[in-house]
Amino acid sequence: MLPEPANCPMCGSAAERIRSSQLRGYRYTCPRCGSFGIETAALGDMEAAMLACQAVARLRAYGHLPFIQRDKQGVRVGPGRT
Ligand SMILES: [Zn+2]
Repeated sequence: MLPEPANCPMCGSAAERIRSSQLRGYRYTCPRCGSFGIETAALGDMEAAMLACQAVARLRAYGHLPFIQRDKQGVRVGPGRT
């Protein structure tokens, strides 16, 4: 599947995303935030995605691909699979 242009849900920069069935959402590549995965459910919650920004930066610093999920407790960020 080809990347499509999309604004980053965390910082709003012009980014690219690829739909991923494994992630049940998208994998974004943002010039400011880097690469991260996000569930479609979390994508609808822009405020939560912006709060996830710091956790995403921290995971990236440790060499993980951050993955943003949303469940009943709210939005969680953890190390994702590539
Ligand atoms: Zn971004």
